[in-house]
Amino acid sequence: MTAHIIDGKAFAASVRARVQQAASDFKKRQGKAAGLTVVLVGNDPASEIYVRLKVSDAREAGIDSRDIKLPATATQAEVLDVVRKLNDDASVHGVLVQFPVPAHIRQDAILDTLSPDKDVDGLTTLSAGRLTSGRAGLVSCTPQGCLMLIKSVRPKLDGLSAVVIGRSQLVGKPMSQLLLQENCTVTIAHSRSRDLAAIARSADILVAAVGRAEMVKGVWVKPGAIVIDVGMNRLDQPGGKPKLFGDVAFDEVKAHASAITPVPGGVGPMTRACLLRNTVLAAFAQAGMSPPAEL
Ligand code: NAP
Repeated sequence: MTAHIIDGKAFAASVRARVQQAASDFKKRQGKAAGLTVVLVGNDPASEIYVRLKVSDAREAGIDSRDIKLPATATQAEVLDVVRKLNDDASVHGVLVQFPVPAHIRQDAILDTLSPDKDVDGLTTLSAGRLTSGRAGLVSCTPQGCLMLIKSVRPKLDGLSAVVIGRSQLVGKPMSQLLLQENCTVTIAHSRSRDLAAIARSADILVAAVGRAEMVKGVWVKPGAIVIDVGMNRLDQPGGKPKLFGDVAFDEVKAHASAITPVPGGVGPMTRACLLRNTVLAAFAQAGMSPPAEL
């Protein structure tokens, strides 16, 4: 068997096109664009690149986006003040503070201040609670993107066995909640799980969100499983540029799986697209309107 390679880049392009259409509808009906503000504290070079990409992605989709840059010396009170002002600014529908922030600022304090209605990263405690309670809310972009990719190859997931390796707030936990909502029987594995290979082999849907290059081997995968690789591990190459590896040993696993996401070109582009989608969903919700069903 050779797995179908799920083209995350192409799927993300279709999500962006739908977001663009929805953003344009929103603007027509409301007379103003959906708005996203990204806050960057300090000048970490990787974070600067991520923020630039998020702002330009959003502009391309017709979202009114801007960044606010604060110096690394900004106090926690100053950062929280910016977040509060954005919470109160009706022209801003989505707010994202780029993490990590400098060590003297508590990430939790930012998340506890941010309005869950504008939490386009889906990271606040209220967003997590809404997801767990099955209430409407914004869902973390990476797991949302993974679910959309899974459903692109298998629209109905009722009764399937799903294993999520990783239990982070950002990926593993929301991923498992989303799969549970889809009526999967969900197992969450982590660094203390015993016999991970056997747990993984029980999965019809296997999501790896670990951060260990090529940890999931071919023999860990049940024949015909859908395998989603969230991992992004940049490893130095002798005499060359660092190379990006997933958490899944792609060449081995594709001989067992029915469908698999590549790295790069799988989950990564969906994470970016889902941030835009969340911003437009937040804008519709704040205006008291239903978003287009196809979004
Ligand atoms: P994280 O917060 O470091 O969480 C990693 C999880 O993996 C933890 O729950 C940890 O278990 C578990 N783990 C670590 N070693 C393990 C092992 N040997 N066996 C089983 N489980 C193990 O990472 P994250 O933020 O969830 O991200 C995971 C990966 O996805 C990283 O490579 C990250 O770069 C990537 N990522 C990609 C995207 C994207 O858009 N493609 C987005 C976000 C993250 P414990 O809880 O027991 O420590």
